[in-house]
Amino acid sequence: MNILDGKLVSAKIKEDIKKEAAVFTAQSGRKPHLVAILVGNDGGSETYVASKMRNCELVGFESTNIRYDVDVTEDELIDKIKEINQDPNIDGLIVQLPLPRHIDPEKITETIDYRKDVDGFHPINLGRMQRNLPCFIPATPYGIMLMLEYYGIDTAGKKAVVVGRSNIVGSPMSILLARNNNPGNCTVTLTHSRTANLKEEVLAGDIIVAAIGRKHFVTADMVKEGAVVIDVGINREESAETKSGFKLYGDVDFDEVSKKSSWITPVPGGVGLMTIVGLLKNTLEAAKGTVYPK
Ligand code: NDP
Repeated sequence: MNILDGKLVSAKIKEDIKKEAAVFTAQSGRKPHLVAILVGNDGGSETYVASKMRNCELVGFESTNIRYDVDVTEDELIDKIKEINQDPNIDGLIVQLPLPRHIDPEKITETIDYRKDVDGFHPINLGRMQRNLPCFIPATPYGIMLMLEYYGIDTAGKKAVVVGRSNIVGSPMSILLARNNNPGNCTVTLTHSRTANLKEEVLAGDIIVAAIGRKHFVTADMVKEGAVVIDVGINREESAETKSGFKLYGDVDFDEVSKKSSWITPVPGGVGLMTIVGLLKNTLEAAKGTVYPK
């Protein structure tokens, strides 16, 4: 068993981003700038946004966190997004999900200028990704592809099984793995809660991506000997053992599955760190105008 080490890979890629950001800042007289909007005070969202902001500072970006109470109206949020869309000193904008029920996430996503949509959730970016055109790729799948690339994992012709079909992880992951790129060129099966014989489907996977949101859902009896296993899951459980008061678990039963896998990501220390890298890379590309020329 080999570890796909998110800590190592993210640190290396962040070094490169930092160098490129310094060049951008020297040339343009300002830092790449990411704005994150956070509504309410969901514990997980607070942690994710804080980590994104911290990482921006680490690589020499400017970051702004705009916070709203949980009862902010959809119109207020939309007005703010429109204002940010017009601001030439802001390169990237993310609105942390989930949003309160009275706010339509689709409407919010579509209000963001696709050229600042560094989460890659806007239909224009998703459509362009499908067509293999320059675009912002959703941060988590992007980070996973960077990880596969870093370790030189041979994906061409392999059978990939993605468990979970969300718009932000599972579905874009299935598209990226199937594209005619390296990494990519897999034969992909996208599974979900209505999949019949899920265990048999997952067992056929040379590459398994688990994005379900259930602690240790993927067990050793579902995994083929030698499979590459990517665990996206972040399941928080209260714990007296940690300073933060909670512990994180993946969607994969790491202790048992790692005995069979050839490569596997740990949780924490795997995909979560690569997601941040995906976001930082998109923000840098937004600032430089490499995806959408300014
Ligand atoms: P969603 O809840 O949006 O999607 C979960 C998917 O899993 C759905 O497609 C659902 O199927 C499927 N599913 C649920 N139960 C089963 C089941 N019994 N059998 C088969 N499929 C099932 O989750 P996300 O994609 O947003 O997130 C997944 C996990 O990844 C979560 O733990 C989340 O915290 C984590 N995450 C981690 C990130 C990181 O940076 N590491 C980033 C984003 C998410 P259906 O569509 O039929 O309901």
